[in-house]
Amino acid sequence: MVSEHLFAARQRMLNQHLRARGITDERVLAAMQRVPREEFVPEALRPHAYDDRALPVEFEQSISQPYTVAFMAQAAQLEGQGRVLEIGTGTGYGAAVLACLVAEVFTVERWPELCNTATQRLERLGFRNVVTKLGDGSLGWAEQSPFDAIIVAAAAERLPAAFFDQLSEGGRIILPIGEPGSGQTMFRFTRRNGELQEESLGMFSFVPLVCDQ
Ligand code: SAH
Repeated sequence: MVSEHLFAARQRMLNQHLRARGITDERVLAAMQRVPREEFVPEALRPHAYDDRALPVEFEQSISQPYTVAFMAQAAQLEGQGRVLEIGTGTGYGAAVLACLVAEVFTVERWPELCNTATQRLERLGFRNVVTKLGDGSLGWAEQSPFDAIIVAAAAERLPAAFFDQLSEGGRIILPIGEPGSGQTMFRFTRRNGELQEESLGMFSFVPLVCDQ
């Protein structure tokens, strides 16, 4: 049951944390309104589900801050017919938001337990257009490419080489780059005429992208 308290908290999140901080894409706002974040956080943290901050989950990982999820989705300029690759499924919250915005979401997580839990949770909540995979997301997901957007929910030291070939013409990569621990710069890379155009979108803080090779 969604308590009135949580429902009101979700509305406050939309108005105070998202709209007020520059999330203007109405489709992104509607997606953030639709996804019950309380279902993605540990039981004890449910009262805090709509605080605008990352919350701790298993294996020293975290569920991203609502503003960050909305910011990345907005920066990716998604359209309803799109196919998106997300790296770092975590709880599945980001994938659920993306699932409200595009036709197909492919998401990769390297921790088996997180991947399993997120897969079951997304199924239980009825997000049928999300496909999960266990593995190293820095390699992308060649079999399912090309993607209109690749969204990376963990901080990389550099742009993974595999992503370019898996991006459609005009496609966008949203990726935080920087050392773990300190903040990282969010970049948008857009593929145009065989090249990547790079834009810096501001500072954020993420757990590291851990690459297996
Ligand atoms: N999008 C998530 C939050 C992601 S936190 C949510 O909404 O809950 C970052 C996640 O990236 C963590 O779960 C971490 O295990 C995962 N991760 C780190 N390196 C990875 C890699 N190389 N491939 C896939 N997942 C990775």
